Amino acid sequence: MISTDIKRILLDKMTLIQHAGLRNLCLVGPVKLPIQMEDRVAEFKWYTWLELKDEATPETLLESLKTMNLAELQQSSVLVYGDFEHSPEALVRMHSICHTGDIFGSKRCDCGYQLRQSLRMIVENGSGALFYLAHHEGRGIGLFSKSLAYLLQQEGLDTVEANEALGFEDDSRSYEQPIRVLETLRARPVTLITNNPRKLASLQKSGLAAEGHIPLWGDISDYNRFYLATKVKKSGHMPQETRAMA
Ligand SMILES: [Zn+2]
Repeated sequence: MISTDIKRILLDKMTLIQHAGLRNLCLVGPVKLPIQMEDRVAEFKWYTWLELKDEATPETLLESLKTMNLAELQQSSVLVYGDFEHSPEALVRMHSICHTGDIFGSKRCDCGYQLRQSLRMIVENGSGALFYLAHHEGRGIGLFSKSLAYLLQQEGLDTVEANEALGFEDDSRSYEQPIRVLETLRARPVTLITNNPRKLASLQKSGLAAEGHIPLWGDISDYNRFYLATKVKKSGHMPQETRAMA
C-alpha cells in the first residue's frame, strides 16, 4: 500500500494523456538526469510513459504497480533538453532501441554512434528531445529475432532480406505513442534528426509536427558498410555524399 503522502508526490508528476481511438498513456516526469557528454555533464529532463489498461488512472496504476511485472516489459522514455516547450527551434530524434549497438557498442550498425551524436546535436542546439523507443529493436522484430536475422546476415542476406526471410515485414515500427508524448511536451513544430526522408514523411503522416529534417553523420567502417549501403538502397536513406553536402 502506497501512503497518501507518497502518492501526492508522485501524482504531481504523472500526466494522463488521452487521445481519441488510442489507449491512454501515463507520462511520468520530469526526472533530473545529468548525462556525461564528451567534455561536460549536461542536465536532461527524463520522462517515461506507460500505456494504461482501459479504465486505469495514474492513481490505480500506483496501486497495482507491485503486481504488474513491469520489468518483464520494456518501457520507452524521452530525454528532454533546454526549454523544449517554448524554444523556437527544437531538434527531435526518434531513436529505436538497439541493444547491441547502444549498449555493447557493436559496429554491425551505426545506432550507438547515432544515439550519442543526436544527444550532442540537441545540446548544441540548446533545445530538443531524444525518444528512446523500446519496442523498436531490430526494426520492430525484437532482440531474439534480431539475433536470428544476424545469423542470416552472416550467411550473406542483407538486413532487409533477413527480416523478410523470418516472416516479418521489413519495418513494423509504430510512432503513435512518442508522437502523443511529444505533443504533450511541446505544441510548436520540430526538426527531426534523421538520414531518412521516408521516416520524416511517415512520421508527419502519423501526426508529427515537423518542419523538416537534419541529417546525422554516419560512423562508416568495414563492419557496417554493407548494412549502411542497404539502408540507402532499400530503405530510403540518403547516401553519405548527400549528407556531406546537406
Ligand atoms: Zn543498431
